[in-house]
Amino acid sequence: MFQDEKVIETKICKHCSCQFDITDKDIEFYEKISPSFPSPDSKESGLKKYIIPSPTLCPDCRQQRRLTFRNERKLYKRKCDASGKEIISIYSPDKPYKVYNQDFWWSDWWEALDYGRDFDFSKTFFEQFGKLIREVPRMSVFGKNNENSFYTNHTDWAKDSYMAIDTANSQNIYYSKWVVNSTNSIDCYFIDKSELCYECMNIDNCYKCFYSYYSNNCKNCSYIYFCDNCENCLFCTNLKNKKNYILNKAYNEIEYNKLSKEIFANKNPWEYFQEFLKNQIRKPTLIYNSENVLWDFIWNSSNVFNSFTIIDGEKLKYCHDSWWINNSYDVYEAAFECNFQYECHACNRWKNTLWWHVSYDIYNCFYIDSCHNSSNLFWCIWLKNKSYCILNKQYTKEEYEKIVPKIIEHMMKTWEWWEFFPSSLNPFGYNETVAQEYYPLTRKDVIPAKAGIYENENISFETGLEWEINYIDREWNTYKTLEEAWKRPVFKYSTYEAPFPKVEKIIPANKLPNNISDIPDDILNWAIECEVTKKPFRIIKEELAFYRKHNLPIPRRHPDQRHLDRMSLRNPRHLYTRKCDKCGKEIQTTYAPERPEIVYCEECYNKEIY
Ligand SMILES: [Zn+2]
Ligand SMILES: [Zn+2]
Repeated sequence: MFQDEKVIETKICKHCSCQFDITDKDIEFYEKISPSFPSPDSKESGLKKYIIPSPTLCPDCRQQRRLTFRNERKLYKRKCDASGKEIISIYSPDKPYKVYNQDFWWSDWWEALDYGRDFDFSKTFFEQFGKLIREVPRMSVFGKNNENSFYTNHTDWAKDSYMAIDTANSQNIYYSKWVVNSTNSIDCYFIDKSELCYECMNIDNCYKCFYSYYSNNCKNCSYIYFCDNCENCLFCTNLKNKKNYILNKAYNEIEYNKLSKEIFANKNPWEYFQEFLKNQIRKPTLIYNSENVLWDFIWNSSNVFNSFTIIDGEKLKYCHDSWWINNSYDVYEAAFECNFQYECHACNRWKNTLWWHVSYDIYNCFYIDSCHNSSNLFWCIWLKNKSYCILNKQYTKEEYEKIVPKIIEHMMKTWEWWEFFPSSLNPFGYNETVAQEYYPLTRKDVIPAKAGIYENENISFETGLEWEINYIDREWNTYKTLEEAWKRPVFKYSTYEAPFPKVEKIIPANKLPNNISDIPDDILNWAIECEVTKKPFRIIKEELAFYRKHNLPIPRRHPDQRHLDRMSLRNPRHLYTRKCDKCGKEIQTTYAPERPEIVYCEECYNKEIY
């Protein structure tokens, strides 16, 4: 909690019925971000503030709802609706949307204002927006200024990359997520200023590191965990400023080279690393160079709570995977100077923006979806370089300021004003989105018992997303009041399966030679059957060259499974109370009390390690 923060209300979540607290600092925040417009009542003069009340959903349900709008890594082949050419897109070909390739979308060859419409005060806002979002053409994948990097999403200034998600200013990045200012790396998550890295997570300024986690400024290290400024270290943890260490023990260079060769020849390095870590001390939470913060992986930040993976953040709550953001609540994936944001995801460089989805360079906007370089927008989608628009229709500043307060008052009556977009409006199946990674649901959970009404009408269960949309429209209409409708989230499910490209043969993963020197060039024409999911996957030329150069074996698992494996190495995004394994003091930690790791309180950890 922030300093001197007081709980003033305990609420019941409208979706999951759990209890969650609202504090005086929360109310202060909601008030601070509440927008003001000239009063619509001609008797009143001056500005009227439209207060945003405290949320109706608990932090997890809010996060789940936001994440249903985010398809990061399910990429499909489909036709561009402008050129007719085959493109890569986050929208599978069965989706009922118009999709343009990135270059055409950014060009002046089409105009999103052509889809604009008047606001209809006899209808709800989400109903009208639902119709608009099905008509306005979409960008095939999110990104800007990329070169030879078609198979990527949420990328800026990417060069020669493949399956790179959320990357900025990086090149030759493959099968990785959250990569900034880095080059020549494969299978990484959250890396910054790093080069020649493989299977690394949460590293900064590292060079030629493999299987390295939560480490900074390291060189030529493999299988390290929470190390800083180390060189030539193998199977080490909690080290600072060390060289030629194996299993946290110092060696001279000759001994180091001899022993490391022996270990790699005789052991399974991953199992050996896990065995070593079992007896090592852990910090209760991974916090580095930060003040007054709690939760996990918070770097160079202050006053950050209920948040995970934050770098250079200040005054944040319920924010995740964000970098260089201030004064915000409920944000997922924001970066580069973001300020005063609430209930948003995927944003770069924006200020005073509430309830929005994937937008760059935005100021003073509300309820927008995928708009860029714009300001003063209300309920718009896929606009670029615009101001004073509502439902994609252009207004003057004076008109805009007159209509918006009326719409807000209308939305208050329809229980919409303070809510993020309902999941039923998202263009993806739940199973295609990041929500599935954090809050996994089966198809049966998503399409519940009421599906029976369709069975009676002989409508097949296997006709893909469009069917689910029809179902949702009908479902929505069965509610007596909108207040009731808000009580239950409505998700969709995608049944689309992309055809696998023709290959010469498919090899089961266990038939692959262990030694990379035994792998022929022909492997580029084959597919490998994933040892876990049995899903086939291919090796690309660039990664084969990387494995050969660094003497790494060919992966046995599908890239999706490798991503899930990395995500599972992170501690849960939950804080538990347990006792310090040294002094017995009660601590808040991401290690559940029943977990076998040795976890010390900060004081005991610092005494023992530094
Ligand atoms: Zn809830
Ligand atoms: Zn202790």
